[in-house]
Amino acid sequence: MANDKGWSGSASAALRWQPGSTVQDIDTSGKPGFDGDKALGEQLLAERGQRLSELQELLYANGRAGDHRSVLLVLQGMDTAGKGGIVRHVIGMVDPQGVKTASFGKPTEEELAHDFLWRIHQQTPKGGQIGVFDRSHYEDVLVVRVHDLVPPAVWEPRYDIINDFEEDLIATGTTIVKCAMFVSLDEQKKRLAERLDRPDKYWKYNPADIDERGYWPKYQEAYQAVLDRTSVDGAPWHIIPADRKWFSRLAITELLIEALEGLNLDWPPADFDVEHEKARLAKA
Ligand code: AMP
Ligand code: MG
Repeated sequence: MANDKGWSGSASAALRWQPGSTVQDIDTSGKPGFDGDKALGEQLLAERGQRLSELQELLYANGRAGDHRSVLLVLQGMDTAGKGGIVRHVIGMVDPQGVKTASFGKPTEEELAHDFLWRIHQQTPKGGQIGVFDRSHYEDVLVVRVHDLVPPAVWEPRYDIINDFEEDLIATGTTIVKCAMFVSLDEQKKRLAERLDRPDKYWKYNPADIDERGYWPKYQEAYQAVLDRTSVDGAPWHIIPADRKWFSRLAITELLIEALEGLNLDWPPADFDVEHEKARLAKA
């Protein structure tokens, strides 16, 4: 039970990709597992944000004490799906000291000269950290596949390479929370229109985003392959309906809370004699 208010069970169970399902059938305005409205969702987000923040501090404290565990949130989604909003409104609720955020855009010359995971390895979270990938290694089987940036013989083996990479991360103490955010074509149009209407949003607008809309079916096919081939037991994908921002933010907050609670963390014990230190302080 993720929370007794609004959620009917655990968010991860409600949102987990079901093998055999189809990307076209995703209800982008749904709120699986949650029967509350926006007002309740926003109220819960604030409450659960406090819980998330507590858990993050616990993780950080344990990391300082030598624990090697970490959590990695992987965010994928089309433009305007709300990845940046998750970083700002969900991750923004915790202490930035313990967070390592990385966004992956078009690779630089240097990055292209290396294996596709080279730039990814550099950004994985250290013990005690929450890592956030705003886009990720999955771009190398999404945009790359859709636009034939490399031949199929190159991208095809990447699904297995990605599974192996994630398996290694898990083996070394990282809990991976993979979220695929799905926005509808209509909602994307509204969000792009808003970017064009508001000077404070121009910076997010990229004329190429409109061209990408023409590739929607190819992206759906590429997402289908990602979900079919890389949603594995240790690192399942979660499907985040993203037409309602309040829901996607609440959902990902719950997924992070579940992941952190799963670590069963306790405050690390003092590595000094507390009574002795109290006695010393009294005299100081
Ligand atoms: P944004 O997230 O809006 O800053 O856009 C970043 C852009 O970089 C998107 O169009 C991505 O598809 C693109 N991108 C990310 N990773 C790759 C990659 N490995 N190869 C090519 N393009 C990429
Ligand atoms: Mg963009």
